[in-house]
Formats: sequence, structure tokens, C-alpha cells
Amino acid sequence: MAARKVRNDTNAAPSNTIAARLARAGLVSDWDFVLHLPLRYEDETRITPIADLIPGHESQVEAEVLSADVVYRGKRQLRVAVRDETGQLMLRFLNFYSSQIKQMAVGRRFRIFGLVRGGLAGAEMIHPRLRACDHDDPLSRSLTPVYPSPEGVPQSWLRKRIDRALRDVDIDDVLPAKMRERHRLDRLKDAVERLHRPPPDADSVSLQQRTDPAWRRLMFDELLAQQLALRAAREARADRRAPVLAVSGATEGSVSARLLAQLPFTLTAAQQRVWAEIERDLAQARPMHRLLQGDVGSGKTVIAALAAARAIESGYQAALMAPTEILAEQHFRKVAEWLAPLGVRIEWLAGRLTPAAKRIAQDATASGQAQLDVGTHALIQEAVAFARLGLAIVDEQHRFGVAQRLALRGGADGSAPHLLMLSATPIPRTLAMSYLADLDVSVIDELPPGRRPVVTKLISTRRREDVMQRIRADVAAGRQAYWVCPLIESSEVIEVAAATETFERIMEMLPDLRIGLLHGQLPSTTKASVMQRFQQCELDVLVATTVIEVGVDVPNATLMVIEHAERFGLAQLHQLRGRVGRGGEQSFCILMFEEPLSEPARERLKVIYQTNDGFEIARQDLTMRGPGEFLGARQSGIPLLRFADLQRDAQLVEQARAVATELLVENPDIAREHVQRWYAASNEFLTA
Ligand code: ADP
Ligand code: MG
Repeated sequence: MAARKVRNDTNAAPSNTIAARLARAGLVSDWDFVLHLPLRYEDETRITPIADLIPGHESQVEAEVLSADVVYRGKRQLRVAVRDETGQLMLRFLNFYSSQIKQMAVGRRFRIFGLVRGGLAGAEMIHPRLRACDHDDPLSRSLTPVYPSPEGVPQSWLRKRIDRALRDVDIDDVLPAKMRERHRLDRLKDAVERLHRPPPDADSVSLQQRTDPAWRRLMFDELLAQQLALRAAREARADRRAPVLAVSGATEGSVSARLLAQLPFTLTAAQQRVWAEIERDLAQARPMHRLLQGDVGSGKTVIAALAAARAIESGYQAALMAPTEILAEQHFRKVAEWLAPLGVRIEWLAGRLTPAAKRIAQDATASGQAQLDVGTHALIQEAVAFARLGLAIVDEQHRFGVAQRLALRGGADGSAPHLLMLSATPIPRTLAMSYLADLDVSVIDELPPGRRPVVTKLISTRRREDVMQRIRADVAAGRQAYWVCPLIESSEVIEVAAATETFERIMEMLPDLRIGLLHGQLPSTTKASVMQRFQQCELDVLVATTVIEVGVDVPNATLMVIEHAERFGLAQLHQLRGRVGRGGEQSFCILMFEEPLSEPARERLKVIYQTNDGFEIARQDLTMRGPGEFLGARQSGIPLLRFADLQRDAQLVEQARAVATELLVENPDIAREHVQRWYAASNEFLTA
């Protein structure tokens, strides 16, 4: 996001100055420094007699130099013996300057801070911090903070800069006293001072583990800023106009009514509920921003088609976008099957269209003749101007991140399309409540009737032949199989080579079967025809890379083999497994793994083996990977929480939400100021 760019903009200073390094870490304004909190603390408020030192503890002693010698123990090292009234201590330096040796004059007195180790010849410290001193030098009156520091920025520099910020900034409390008391929160000024400069009697363990009440206040403020910023985005949207998509009483002749009537199934209760939620939003004159979540196979596509039908029958256009061309094509085929017979004009926008064909599609879209455009996200956003876009549907939103969420908000006449995002990755509640607080969420929490849960098996690669047997048997019974090749993150070229090799090996092992190969580097026409042949049962086995991860829907495929399953993430495995179990037949997923398994890989496979429940899997995934990875936030520029932990601090999220609501109503100025403090330079985030 631009926010990052602002902070990254270093043309004001050479990129290696301290200021530039700090700016890259997001430290620019005084408030940035005030909110830059210590990782841990060192206790220099007391002197420990050498006789009382305990190995494994950090301590400060005051002692005078007995001797300083450079010795060779394989490498040069400086050994300084020091003593106080109670005993002796050895200091060892493996890297040192000759000027340092000179400082260690016999009899000179130092304050020495470091980690105590039990050496062969008594207590020692390696690379302690030393400061020359006199007997009566005052001791530090607070614990010494240790800050997370960008490379090349010394702690002492950071401490000074933060001291200045603490002095210069007016750390007044944005929260009215009664609110603070109600939620049992410390005053901000007290909390900030306690965290940066804890008094000697503070419990350094609870400070370090962030259980001290002062931390609670900072975490609360962070969550509050997040809530306020996202709510502000939501409110700003509420001020915008959007077309009212409603037919008077959804008459029998309307596209959506006819679509419903003509479906070979009836909607599940959950589908009916989410459709009602979406219908209500579309009928409003402000843009909908709704995330539709549902586990793989829960039937999100038909809801998307209904929404598109509603836009079309209201006289507007709709766009349906998917992250990959394969998925877009699947959607195109499905919605065309449903909507084309009802007279809807659908345009297909793919990379492989000839320029002339593309022009025709674009012209039809620009003139308003096209009623629905289906294609990849990139294509539709970049290359198409709509005459009257009423609804944009984005599949697998979690892969796009917020950046794209923002990008769709434009609209020349100031009006904005309604936005429906589909996600097969269930987002745990606390995460949705915090990071996605600017969205409304609908959940399809039920699968269509008659589905039989996929049976998952774990098989070592040594039993590859058993797997081949299994494929032969299934194909003989008229079924089809997927074979997914390992993910190779470092190189798509290697990945493709590996998939091609596997393809050839499987052709050798299963010479009587019809086998296809699908990967990202094939020309799109080839991809499309392979997919089509698999769909029409002209191929028995589809060897593929993860390009088939999302959305592919071939109900006759009942076997999914995943090679090197240990290399995949939880969400991916769940997605891949969701490609089978789409018809009435019992389906199987075989996870082939290579031994030995790492502990995290073992954990992941265990979760996938034990449950089919996408929500449970997402919960575990979030625990294992943390919110940043889970949301793909690092790539998309969502400001991550630095201090609060959504799982541990779930209750605090609820409180922050409540306070955000109150503040926005009663004190919008305070709300704005609070967000400014936390996201200083992130202006776009604030106004989006
Ligand atoms: P996903 O939510 O993973 O995108 P799809 O929309 O692809 O799921 O639906 C999976 C399959 O279930 C499709 O073949 C679809 O036609 C079918 N389906 C959807 N809704 C129902 C329903 N209510 N009853 C029976 N089958 C359904
Ligand atoms: Mg889908």
C-alpha cells in the first residue's frame, strides 16, 4: 500500500543513514518512537556482589581490574580478571580492539553488565558491557529497555531518540476516564512510561511476557486503532452511492427467479440464508462489501450466479473474477450453463483470446451489451471499462488481499459497484473481527445433502505401487483421479520439470490409462483443452501442479493423490482434497509423504488426516502460522498487529470493538487522533 511507500521513501537521505534505516522500519514520527516498545529489559538498578552471582542470570557488578591479558586459545582472546570485596570474576572478549586493552588498566573501576556463566575457574562473563565508574556514581533508576532495532542502529541511539520522543510528545489520554475505568485500563501515559522505563521494583518477568497491565493498555490501544481505521473505511464507503439492485418483488420472469427454478437442486438452508443477506445488501443504495465464506464444495458459485442475475435483471452489468485462468474458465462454463439459456449475454475474457476477439468483448462491455464478464482478475480490472457495472464478484479473495479490495473502489461518476468476495478459507472469528472489520461476512456452514466425507489416507512414498493399484481399480470402475505434484517454491521451472517427469513415469506405470498433464507454464489453450478433456471424461488421470488447487469442479473425479504432501500447507491440502467428494460417490485422498517427517509436517498431516472440517483446519492453521501468513498480509500490506495476540487477547478485541463504536458516535475527533498516532504515515489506510 502507499503507506509503505511513504515510509520507504528514502530519497531525502542516503539509504544507509540511521534515519533511513529507521524509516525503513517504520520509525519516523515521535509517536512511532513512543510506540516502539522494548523486547526485554536489563536490570542495572542494582549491584550484585560477585560472590552472589548465579550462572544463567544477567547481572551487574562493580569491580576493579586485577589483570588484563591477551591469550591464545585457538584464537586470540582478551581475558580480564576483576574483583570486588567478595570475589573474582573473569571477563572474556573474543573480538576486541587494542584500544580496549589499554582501557583495562589495573585498578580501574567498572560497572559490568552481562550474562553470568559458570566457567572452569569460577564465574565468568563473555562480552559484557562495561562502563568506567566511580564509587558514588548513581545507579540507573529504571530497568534498562532493550528495543527491537534495525540493523546498524545502536541501542544507545534508540534509547536517546525514544527519550526525546517521550519528552516532546504530549501523551495525553484519548480515552475518557469513565471508559478507561469501565474496561480496567491504565492511563496511557503511565503505561507508556512503565514500559519504556520500568521502575526498579517492576516485575521484569511479567513485563517481558507482556502480562503486565501496562501492556494490556497498549494492546488495547492497538486493537482500538485497527477497529477505528477499518470502521472509518466502512463509513466512508457508506457515504458512496451504489446502484440499487432489486427487481420489484423478484417476479417469476426475472433472471434470478428463473435460475432458481431451473437448478437441478434446491438451495440448502445455509445458501438460502446467505442469499437473503446478499439480496438485502444489493437493494441498498450504498455499496455492499461482503465476504462469502464457505468450505470447499459448500456451493458458493450458485450464490455468485444468483447475485449476478440480480444485477442483470436490474439493468446493470456484473463481473466475475478468479485468480487463475483455469478457475475463471470453470466459472465461465458453469455460469454459462446456467445463465446463457436464460438469454444472458456473457463475455469471456482470457489471456489467450485473439486481439480481435478481445476487442469485441471489450466493446460489448463498454457499450453495455455484455451483461456478465467472466475472466481473470487482472484482465477484467486492467482492460475493461464497463458501461454500468453494478456488481463485482471476486473468487478466492484471500489470495488477493486488501490491496485489490481497495482497487475496485473506483468509479468515475462517484458511484461504486457492489462487491462480493468468495473465500473457501474459513476465517476464524477473532481474525475476521479484527483484520476484516470493514467487511460484512456471510457464512455457508452446511454442505449440500448426500455428500460423503472424503476418506483420507497417509501413505509413505515407498508404497507407491499400492497407490498405482488403487488408481487402476478406480479407473476400471469408471472414476477419475488427480495426481498433484510437489510444490517447489524456489523455482517454477523446477516444479514444472518435476511434474513432467512424474507425468512420464506415471504413463509408464499405467500404460493403459489416458493421462493428462497440467501446469502453469503451458499455453492457455493447452491448459483449457486438457481441463476440458478431463471434465468430459476423456482423460482418466490428471497429473497437475497446484494450479488445480482452487475451484476446479469435476464430480466424477473421486481420487486425489498428493505427492510430497509434507511440503504443502494446511490450507492448500484442504483445498486440494476439496477437489474430490463432489459427487455422490465415496471419494479418497491419498497423502503420500517422504520420510523422515519434520515435526511441523507431521503436525499438519495429522490435522488433515483427523478432520474434514474447514473451520477447524483454519483454526489450527492460524495457530501454526500466525495471522500474517494466514491472511497473506505481508504481501498485501495489511498493517499487522505488533503487540496484541488475537487468540490470547480475544476478549480485548471485543472490548476494543465496543469502545470503537462508542468513540465514533460520541467523539469522532478523538477517534481520528488515535488512529493518527498509530498509523502516522498510513494515510491511504485511513481514508480508503
Ligand atoms: P464451492 O463453494 O467450493 O465453490 P461449488 O459452488 O463449486 O462449491 O459447488 C460444488 C458442487 O455442488 C457443484 O457441483 C454445485 O453445482 C453443487 N451444488 C451447489 N449447491 C448445491 C445444492 N444446494 N445441492 C446440491 N448440489 C449443489
Ligand atoms: Mg468455488
